[in-house]
Amino acid sequence: MSIRNVTPQPSCADASDPLSVSVQQASEAIRNALTPISEIEQVPIRSALGRVLGADCISPIDVPSHTNSAMDGYALAGTDLPSQGVRDYTVIATVLAGQTLADRCAAGQCVRIMTGAPMPPGTDTVVMQEQVDLLDDQRVRIDARHRAGQNVRQAGEDIARGSHVFQAGRLLTAADLGVLASLGFGELQVRRRPRVAFFSTGDELRSIGEPLGEGEIYDSNRYSLHAMLTELDAEIFDLGVVRDNRQALQEAFVRASGMADVVITSGGVSVGAADYTKSVLEGLGQMSFWTIAMKPGRPLTFGKIGEAMFFGLPGNPVAVMLTFQQFVRPALRCLASGHWPTSLVVEARCQVSLKKRPGRFEFVRGILSYDDQGRLTVGPSGAQGSGILTSMSRANCFILLAEDCAGVAEGEPVKVEPFTTLLYS
Ligand code: AMP
Ligand code: MG
Repeated sequence: MSIRNVTPQPSCADASDPLSVSVQQASEAIRNALTPISEIEQVPIRSALGRVLGADCISPIDVPSHTNSAMDGYALAGTDLPSQGVRDYTVIATVLAGQTLADRCAAGQCVRIMTGAPMPPGTDTVVMQEQVDLLDDQRVRIDARHRAGQNVRQAGEDIARGSHVFQAGRLLTAADLGVLASLGFGELQVRRRPRVAFFSTGDELRSIGEPLGEGEIYDSNRYSLHAMLTELDAEIFDLGVVRDNRQALQEAFVRASGMADVVITSGGVSVGAADYTKSVLEGLGQMSFWTIAMKPGRPLTFGKIGEAMFFGLPGNPVAVMLTFQQFVRPALRCLASGHWPTSLVVEARCQVSLKKRPGRFEFVRGILSYDDQGRLTVGPSGAQGSGILTSMSRANCFILLAEDCAGVAEGEPVKVEPFTTLLYS
């Protein structure tokens, strides 16, 4: 009996694959294929958090609008301060925030002033109330430790009238909205949100509320995708589950690309017997079927169906979340704003040793925390199979093991990409 060997094909069991693209190459190709959204709409300032500014913002006023006191104290002319010893002053009036004083303050006089009140005529300096001696109701004594011009906020020192405050394309934060409110803007011009249509593929998938038959599982990808898209402030169209059927897939792709800027699917992009996606897509648009040198998340399809960008994510739930975070999220941000974002990467001490062969970029789900000496430390959040979503839900970061990394020893520093800036574990 003769023994015939099986000829192996490249697979996700290989450490590296000469035909695969790197994470970097895939990101660059996606970036180059993007045309940012340009349509503008107007929204009230309270609805503008996380939206993208549609036009440059020029300040119509000075902020602050008038020169005012930064302290509760006494306003006087800087030239009237004693250069040595002490000097006594008559308090001619009191001015509170929101009031103005028309009277001029002369030499030997001062005005009691509260924080935010406009500086009265003849004054340019404020002495804190804690630094004067009160002689009686109308007289204070000031010594020589003060500097002319101190404790005063100049009109326009934060924002000068006519200055460029924000550029179009800025993703609006809470602080930005405060700045825009301080300029008196109640409505803002913002770019239209990206429209994203998505569906899951697979005969084994059931939606929540349906009974599970033999060999069936609940569709979880649509829910994690929905949540990640909600965080990105996209307009979402959930097209449900599509069966592993050529006709059904074809119809779903055409429908999705007709309504959205971006179409996302999960499953069906590998080489399984029921993976029709590839042949259907080839007939519909220009596609790149990538094997990405990363783990998890190896197969990814990217291309265009009509005007819509298309991301065919893998089926495994962790691979879906990882490829979304690494490729789809920056792409959607860039589509919305014109800027491809950079993720925050920090260094932490690895609590355990990590095995790895050089070849692929590995993303290890991890828990980042501070040790009792205040140093950042990280360890895996659990089993790392690409279907094990619980270790993704426990994780607050990815530990980044670059292509050439050949393993990490316990206590060695590693690069970590936190999911947020607050650490929960
Ligand atoms: P596929 O790429 O379609 O072969 O899917 C790979 C693995 O991911 C299989 O075990 C699928 O059952 C699983 N899978 C695919 N889609 C989903 C989904 N929407 N929710 C949960 N698991 C999925
Ligand atoms: Mg499938």
